[in-house]
Amino acid sequence: MMAAESMSGLRGELKTDEPMSAHTSWRVGGPADRCYRPADLDDLRQFLAGLPPQEQLVWVGLGSNLLIRDGGIRGTVILPFGGLDTLEQLGDYRIRVGAGVSCAKVARFAARAGLTGAEFLAGIPGTMGGALAMNAGAFGGETWSLVRSVETLGHRGELHSRVRDAYQVSYRTVTGPKNEWFVSTELQLQPGDTDSAQARIRSLLGKRSATQPTQLPSCGSVFRNPPNDFSARLIESCGLKGEQIGNAQVSEKHANFIVNLGDAKAADIEALIRYVQDRVQQEHGIRLEPEVRIIGEFV
Ligand SMILES: Cc1cc2nc3c(=O)[nH]c(=O)nc-3n(C[C@H](O)[C@H](O)[C@H](O)COP(=O)(O)OP(=O)(O)OC[C@H]3O[C@@H](n4cnc5c(N)ncnc54)[C@H](O)[C@@H]3O)c2cc1C
Repeated sequence: MMAAESMSGLRGELKTDEPMSAHTSWRVGGPADRCYRPADLDDLRQFLAGLPPQEQLVWVGLGSNLLIRDGGIRGTVILPFGGLDTLEQLGDYRIRVGAGVSCAKVARFAARAGLTGAEFLAGIPGTMGGALAMNAGAFGGETWSLVRSVETLGHRGELHSRVRDAYQVSYRTVTGPKNEWFVSTELQLQPGDTDSAQARIRSLLGKRSATQPTQLPSCGSVFRNPPNDFSARLIESCGLKGEQIGNAQVSEKHANFIVNLGDAKAADIEALIRYVQDRVQQEHGIRLEPEVRIIGEFV
């Protein structure tokens, strides 16, 4: 895939035929041709510059919003978690966060620094890069309401600085410059105090474990909420809680979650997603749209 000379000097970890089930929170997904976990930003830029221009690239954070099919991914997967790990406090209540830092860590860091605004990130089990891509949000907070600027990489490793206004942002949707991926962001927080930020984090996490099936592999909410309604309400009203295809099940605890009861296949989960969509459409005339991103090859 890469010329030997462009591999030399790389400090990250390259794997071939890597099962993506090891990198998704649903614990499903076939092999990726190649997976690269960079040592840091410079290392990633060098790696990308050495790839063939046509190479298909897929960035995977913690795979907590991804259904990767059982046939896996033809191309190269970039795994920023752990590599793009900048986390620092700047002046004026701002912090800089690498795309590979977990959202939970960002929430704890901000709270310890006596800043408020990032507490909602505590329960989002992804990376900052995934949160930027998805405009992840919870309990009234949304990622892009904090963003001042981002840094991105292009396909060949070109580094760009982008202001917030380069992106159109709405509910779980972000559009901006094409063929670029997030490597860091500067977030604007507000002055607060450590004790109350930590108390808020504890309270939000408590609410989550009371209402969500956090003990079983899932991808969080499967469907976006339609305007003025809730996907969970619509699914539950069709009597679909507990519905199962293979070992994929509509959660008994939260109807907008699909859980992996054991060794579910991606195909089981995808079939259950389609089944739920069809049933809700038949009974309510509303086509639910998946929030989770479905990618990869069928077997
Ligand atoms: C138990 C549970 C609870 C959840 N609760 C919430 C919630 O309250 N609110 C919420 O919004 N979500 C929630 N989610 C969904 C998920 O955690 C978020 O969407 C999260 O932001 C995904 O981050 P990730 O790093 O896992 O991204 P991934 O799932 O790895 O990727 C998601 C998408 O982002 C892209 N991407 C990843 N990194 C980058 C990057 N650096 N640059 C560009 N694109 C990138 C991927 O290619 C993919 O298209 C939950 C999930 C689970 C399992």
